[in-house]
Amino acid sequence: MLVERSQIPPEGLDLRVREEPRWEGVEGLWTSLDPVEASFHLEHKGGGILATGAFMTTAVVPCSRCSEAVSIPVSDQFEVLYVGSPDGSRRDDIELSPEEMDVEFLEHDRLDLSGLLRENVLLNLPLQPLCRAECRGLCPRCGVNLNEISCQCRVHEVDPRLRPLQHLL
Ligand SMILES: [Zn+2]
Ligand SMILES: [Zn+2]
Repeated sequence: MLVERSQIPPEGLDLRVREEPRWEGVEGLWTSLDPVEASFHLEHKGGGILATGAFMTTAVVPCSRCSEAVSIPVSDQFEVLYVGSPDGSRRDDIELSPEEMDVEFLEHDRLDLSGLLRENVLLNLPLQPLCRAECRGLCPRCGVNLNEISCQCRVHEVDPRLRPLQHLL
């Protein structure tokens, strides 16, 4: 979704967006991602545009231990100051923003809200999702899901230091 600078009135613009996350490069990162619900407030600031807002969605991803699908809510807030493009003349008009604020360049006087959402959603995806904190994962030997079945592998496993005594056990 693109918003032209000229579409933003002096008092600012509020938008609600529901974006289908069919984003290039995200296939394979997850099993599925629900449509992203987002709200934006856009306003003129200096020679640029300040975009603030929040989004929420749900990612269905494989548990990093047992590979079962797990639904994880993903949400965050953002605040980005868009300034003139590097070769544009507006850049000098802008007083530098506080460090915690993201600064992006405005291309062709348009805001790419889809790109903004994509970036923020990807940043907030869990790196090592777990289906539950105490997930027992898969048996490294036989591959069964140890949350569902207990296999016999561990029973026969003997501390290597005791191996010389194994025939006595
Ligand atoms: Zn798990
Ligand atoms: Zn096993």
